[in-house]
Amino acid sequence: MTYAGSVRNSGEEIMFLIDMHVHTDDSPDADIPAGELVVRGMDINLAGIGFVAHVDLNPEDYCYGGFDESIYNRSIDIARREAGDKILVLKGIEVGEPHIYEEQVKNIVDYSNYDFITGALHSLSGIGMVLGSEVYEDEDYLEIVEQYYLETLQMVEEADMDILAHMGLFRRGLALAGLKHDFNELELWTDTIRHILKVIIDRDIALELNTSGLRRKENTTYPTPEILVLYKEMGGQLITVGSDTHREPYIFYGLSDGRKLLIEKGFRDTNFYINRESRKYPLFHQGNNTPI
Ligand SMILES: [Zn+2]
Ligand SMILES: [Zn+2]
Repeated sequence: MTYAGSVRNSGEEIMFLIDMHVHTDDSPDADIPAGELVVRGMDINLAGIGFVAHVDLNPEDYCYGGFDESIYNRSIDIARREAGDKILVLKGIEVGEPHIYEEQVKNIVDYSNYDFITGALHSLSGIGMVLGSEVYEDEDYLEIVEQYYLETLQMVEEADMDILAHMGLFRRGLALAGLKHDFNELELWTDTIRHILKVIIDRDIALELNTSGLRRKENTTYPTPEILVLYKEMGGQLITVGSDTHREPYIFYGLSDGRKLLIEKGFRDTNFYINRESRKYPLFHQGNNTPI
């Protein structure tokens, strides 16, 4: 292959995927306009982009109160005009702690206007933000991780959501705090993690394979490959891939590694959502970039 798309992006494997976790400058912690991300996505022949904006009503969160639906709608309209029929543009939101804030979120956001709703646990009740280092300073970090999984279970049991975002994000905080982060939580909290996976399978919530940890010190996906394997063994089929893009230089980072991991673990398809309904497309490129 000699054309520019593959040369610029070190191989064609990144092509024909739909990145289901991409932030635009509509989130306070991200700074690239949606229209520009569409152009960048076309450069590498992505089949589609699932945009998300943070909807955080937790006052502790950096993105608290930063969501403006009318501005986000305009961004997505611009992205769709830019995309034409060359790349699929999907409109989603990432709701922080929906098991706690869902009612308030639904007062300001009509979920039926979105292609998908992603549920995310960034903060633990009574403990604080798990993605930064501060929370681990005076606590037993394993107790926090245990709490993280218990609260994830509560979230997936209760919230109206299509995708479970970045399960295992606490590792980012552990790595930042200089703590041990290469343990296998599946051995420590087997029952809780199995329970989470069973609930998402029963409720048709997709598991997101988030590749943002691959660009950080912890150098692993969220969730870990071990949890991905268990999900597959338990009959889990709904899976999305997301880079959690926020800004340069990590745009669409880790997608080809994510795809390789899924194929290695026996997945043949991956998912995206339109009008909150899941669709699937093959992980193996079949001659065009049109998702099925
Ligand atoms: Zn998140
Ligand atoms: Zn995100």
